[in-house]
Amino acid sequence: MPATLPVSLLAALQSKQALLWLNPCLGSALPASAPTAEQVHEAAARLQRCAGLLAMLFPELAATQGQIESALHDASALYALPEYRGVQGQCWLKGDHALPVAGSIKARGGFHEVLAHAEALALQHGVLQPEDDRRLLAGAAARSLFASHRVVVGSTGNLGLSIGIMAAALGFQAVVHMSVEAKEWKKARLRQRGVTVVEHAGDYAAAVAAGRATAEADPNSYFVDDEHSLPLLLGYAAAAAALAAQLAAQGAVVDAAHPLFVYLPCGVGGAPGGITFGLKLLFGPHVHCFFAEPVASPCMLVQLASGSDAPLSVYDIGLDNRTEADGLAVGLASPLVAPLMRAELSGVFTVGDDDLFRLRLQVEDHCQLALEPSAAAAVRGPDWLCNSTAGQAYLAAHGLQQQLADAHHVVWTTGGALVPPEEHQRFRQRGLSRAG
Ligand SMILES: *Cc1c(COP(=O)(O)O)cnc(C)c1O
Repeated sequence: MPATLPVSLLAALQSKQALLWLNPCLGSALPASAPTAEQVHEAAARLQRCAGLLAMLFPELAATQGQIESALHDASALYALPEYRGVQGQCWLKGDHALPVAGSIKARGGFHEVLAHAEALALQHGVLQPEDDRRLLAGAAARSLFASHRVVVGSTGNLGLSIGIMAAALGFQAVVHMSVEAKEWKKARLRQRGVTVVEHAGDYAAAVAAGRATAEADPNSYFVDDEHSLPLLLGYAAAAAALAAQLAAQGAVVDAAHPLFVYLPCGVGGAPGGITFGLKLLFGPHVHCFFAEPVASPCMLVQLASGSDAPLSVYDIGLDNRTEADGLAVGLASPLVAPLMRAELSGVFTVGDDDLFRLRLQVEDHCQLALEPSAAAAVRGPDWLCNSTAGQAYLAAHGLQQQLADAHHVVWTTGGALVPPEEHQRFRQRGLSRAG
């Protein structure tokens, strides 16, 4: 019995009404198990010392010396949308939909975890010394070591792409377990790269469970666990410093008089949770993070609103977890991330699939950026904050109404660059058919 959710919230969620939920536990203490700032710095340092290696492995990274980073786009063009009437402050889009090589936000966590595993394995086998240049990991000794090891992941698609591409590039045997929601082109692209794709009839959680089970049975297998992984979380958290530097370069100050609002699409919670964790380390109470989830899959909302660490899924409250936003089609939130977000997340807003395609179309037409549907989930964040009753209540409770004109809004766009043109065309048509 889902007796743990307030009755009116439960009814609104079950009727798939889009809503903004505010987290009553924001500002409570982090659990003792929370990562440290030191760990986030180490993850950023790992990505830096592996940049030369990445530039060797992927020709498209040569121009940026192996940096995996995305642009911060001015999103003033969004003010033309009716939803942005009443939005005060400056709007930005953080363009992780175009992160190199993997084409989604999963490049951050996924590449970090595969690189951490490759380093650890090479150190353990004496193929690498701690101070060595990481380009050695592309050498013959490391490659023959990796060839006898397997990297396994369960995914709805984008994590599989990120892990599969990086693991295969380093010479690992890469195996990706995927759910039925995963798109055909993602499977095809992985197979092209020499990755083994195993398909499962169940949902995302079933694919993860299957991957975990096969990896546990094999001592030479390493399982990337989207539901529990600290290295993934830390790779995402490292993005916070990059955003801070980009804002600073634009002359955008973040402090009590200039609050920062960040809106992030949420699936299992690792990517948006890691970024929120990193941003809170840097900006404390001056950053306010909101997640966006599909109305059929609001797993983080349900978990946090339950007020308990006991797992509560969207199925438990009668939702079906069916959405075209395949990157967000997750029924149960990460038990690693949810307790962190209980202390740090400002709130969650939900979005229906029709709205998702409409918002995707508007970003394409107004900002000339081609997103996948999941990546458009956060676009209405500034609207929810500035124009809804719940948003106004949040601003009032935090004394932010006067500061709103000097605020910055960052809408995180999370995937799309690898989506084939014909798929983008289909997304576009669906957006047009609902535009009127
Ligand atoms: C995975 C993904 C997300 C959300 O990340 P989680 O770690 O699952 O919460 C958002 N958008 C896209 C496009 C994704 O692939």
